[in-house]
Amino acid sequence: MNCFAGIDIGSTAIKIVIINEKLEILGSKIAGSGSMFYKYAKENLELLLKEIDLKKENLKYIVSTGYGRKLFKEADETISEITANAIGARYAGKEFGTIRTIINLGGQDSKAISLDEEGNVVNFAMNDRCAAGTGKFLDVAAAKLEIGVEELGEYHFKSKGTPLPINSTCAVFAESEIISLLGNEHKVEDIVAGIHYSIAKRIIRLAKKVGLNDVIYFDGGPALNKGLVEAIEFELGRRLAIPKNPQITTALGAAILAKEAYEEL
Ligand code: ADP
Repeated sequence: MNCFAGIDIGSTAIKIVIINEKLEILGSKIAGSGSMFYKYAKENLELLLKEIDLKKENLKYIVSTGYGRKLFKEADETISEITANAIGARYAGKEFGTIRTIINLGGQDSKAISLDEEGNVVNFAMNDRCAAGTGKFLDVAAAKLEIGVEELGEYHFKSKGTPLPINSTCAVFAESEIISLLGNEHKVEDIVAGIHYSIAKRIIRLAKKVGLNDVIYFDGGPALNKGLVEAIEFELGRRLAIPKNPQITTALGAAILAKEAYEEL
């Protein structure tokens, strides 16, 4: 059996997807990037192969992508995360229609990608200079509020009435703003909702730079946060297309490209 792997080495998490020739996902893995990207990527690929009981020799082609892609020496090829995300989104999101706009929130960056009818990238905008509006912002906020990042969605839906405005766009200042809101006895859920609406406004501003066409697809780890999804949809006045496993789309795109590259050899 010929199989193909896509490895997305992000600033926060390593995502690995293994597919077969029919583009079926045989297995996937998400692990923290830590400080030793190469070591963790290699270890987690071996663990995944074991988990799905696949021999290394069946892995015919590996494409790495993401921030740390060049560090993964075993990769047959590397591609930019913009290209990998576009390929993965078109495939994972096909049930929603033709994806023309992708909003991706990562651990330390946010991106908006515009695609043409054929799925080619025509434009993109990126913020990777500050943590505002990224997963890191949510991680820092959750830690300050002493809750897990995976609980943010739950808290969001407990909030009633108008969400608290969070004025600081810088993660460092937002941290002190959160402390002061807690000091003024505001509820955790209202602060969480305020953070989500503030990130939503920021990401929509970025997305408007590339244009909001047809189906708007949202992925990356923060797309697992249903509260943030609700805030973006509310601010947009439109529904987002979100795949079942939004954190692995870019790795899936890399795996699809690995299959295509192997077949063209
Ligand atoms: P990168 O590719 O830049 O490493 P990811 O797309 O993997 O980033 O996203 C990482 C971010 O996803 C984390 O910083 C965290 O905020 C968010 N995240 C991860 N898992 C969850 C979850 N279960 N619920 C909500 N947010 C999550």
